[in-house]
Amino acid sequence: MPVRLLLKLVLFIAVFPFAISAQKPAVQFQLGFDSATQHRLSVHMDFQVKNEGDYTDLVMPRWMPGYYQLMDYPENVSAFAAMDKDGKPLRWEKADVNTWRVYKTGKPVITVTYSVLATRNFVANPLVDSAHAFLAPPGIYLHEENQLQQPVAVHVLMPAGWKHIATGLDQDAAGKLIAPDYDVLYDSPVLLGNLDSFPVFTVKGIPHYFMAYQPGATNGAALMKDLKKIVEKATDMMGVIPYKKYVFLGIGAGRGGIEHLNSAAVGFTGDGYNTEAGRQQLLSFLAHEYFHHYNAKRIRPIELGPFDYNQENRTRLLWVAEGITSYYDELLLCRAGLTTPEQLVESLRHSLQAYESGPGRLFQSVSQASYDTWSDGPFGRTGDVVNKTISFYDKGPVLGWMLDWRIRHMTQNKRSLDDVMRLLYHRYYEKGRGYTEAEFRSGCEEIAGRDLSDFFAYVYTVETPNYPRYLGYGGLLIDTSWQKQPGGWLGFSGAEKNDTLRVTHISTASPAWKAGLLPGTAILRINDQRASTALLQSLLMTATEKQIIQLDTWHKGQLKRLSMQVATGKIQPFTISKNQQASNLAKQIFASWASGK
Ligand SMILES: [Zn+2]
Repeated sequence: MPVRLLLKLVLFIAVFPFAISAQKPAVQFQLGFDSATQHRLSVHMDFQVKNEGDYTDLVMPRWMPGYYQLMDYPENVSAFAAMDKDGKPLRWEKADVNTWRVYKTGKPVITVTYSVLATRNFVANPLVDSAHAFLAPPGIYLHEENQLQQPVAVHVLMPAGWKHIATGLDQDAAGKLIAPDYDVLYDSPVLLGNLDSFPVFTVKGIPHYFMAYQPGATNGAALMKDLKKIVEKATDMMGVIPYKKYVFLGIGAGRGGIEHLNSAAVGFTGDGYNTEAGRQQLLSFLAHEYFHHYNAKRIRPIELGPFDYNQENRTRLLWVAEGITSYYDELLLCRAGLTTPEQLVESLRHSLQAYESGPGRLFQSVSQASYDTWSDGPFGRTGDVVNKTISFYDKGPVLGWMLDWRIRHMTQNKRSLDDVMRLLYHRYYEKGRGYTEAEFRSGCEEIAGRDLSDFFAYVYTVETPNYPRYLGYGGLLIDTSWQKQPGGWLGFSGAEKNDTLRVTHISTASPAWKAGLLPGTAILRINDQRASTALLQSLLMTATEKQIIQLDTWHKGQLKRLSMQVATGKIQPFTISKNQQASNLAKQIFASWASGK
């Protein structure tokens, strides 16, 4: 993009004149980057004390909404100091892991200063280095206990040479970032440095930005054209655009994304965009984070907001907030003409197979998986837990698909899951609250016009879904039979990294599963030869049934020899095809589902 246009855009973002409160916010932050080379952010906070008593407690959140894990934010705070408005030091102590208790002396304004160590490049963590910064807000800002409703201003002291600031927050005339309360502040990450800016697009007059740190060789103009189509389809479906601007923040190489009310932070290098498969993957990822501003942020389980930042906020509805968002990210791509209906079906089939092939489906319902996700730890599930659990990112989109087609079938294709989304938006979000489990179900039943106990059994139990019946509603056939494979079968797959073969996936009731092999285990030797994927494949190619294969493994500091009896290879391919004899209703359902019309 020409530099002039780029500068114009940045200026535009900087002075975009949104409603600015005339009153000076009671909480003022100043962020300094003098120690950026040491990955440290200097925080200076002035606030008018609101709480009564001898002291007030300052609290740092323990998690970030959208990332359902307790984080180590408070542990990265050091050099804490407190003083009154005359600069006289105040006594303070840590009251618990994320609370700083400051003793007052009667003066109304307190200043605290502290340093935040910010080293991890991830959408849920702050990062500061000499060239840029990503401010993941819960890891930076303290709030006075029980005062989340306070308006906040943030003055960013930009280092010389850093040109851009990207955020969903409004700015005042002096360039300060303004949040009407802490919930908005904690929901609004900020990306700083020298950023690339892709061409802005508008939908119904609302601007959409994409600003990125080191986005690689991305064709930003083409990407924004694609994103515009996705936003148009999503907003057409919902019939309302609830923000004044929307910003994609590309934080550089890395994985993961987190949704916010009017922005999304995404690990992003656009390199993958240059291949067809990479493009589809990237667009569904961005569509996912984008659609979340409806489903998860606004249409939200009642447990997810107002948030308790001090502890886990468990809900049994992440299969809706996450899983149904994953369903819509694929569906929107197709409706936007960016994928074909065949590609849409294939992506959903992929989720179905991922869910069906793991042993966890015998142990955990999708509702329980939603509730238990907080126990995974910030770096995901490991070891035997992987074998006993499922991912709502696999089963959730499949259930979304089934529910959608069930509703369409019950209503002669007059209503759909789209109607459920709109109902939840208007009935709960617009009334200022989330929905309960019972309300989600009754909303679905109201739109379908009948009881949906048969469907909800797949949510609350581990019963295998009747795929042929549900896919038949849209005129598809699915082959659920077991098919013999050539060669022997142990039922695990692995990947080689740094010359070590590690187990990535284990199939249900397989020889590997019965022998106690765990995901993440390093396989050192197979039948006394150095382990590799190639060796494993060649052994299995010629193996006969009941032959014993021995693995020397290393897991959590333990060497173990595991013997496995080779089984005959068999898989359920879940091949999906069109039923040429499908009813007219089924054909209509498929066509209007894929087109959104
Ligand atoms: Zn998500």
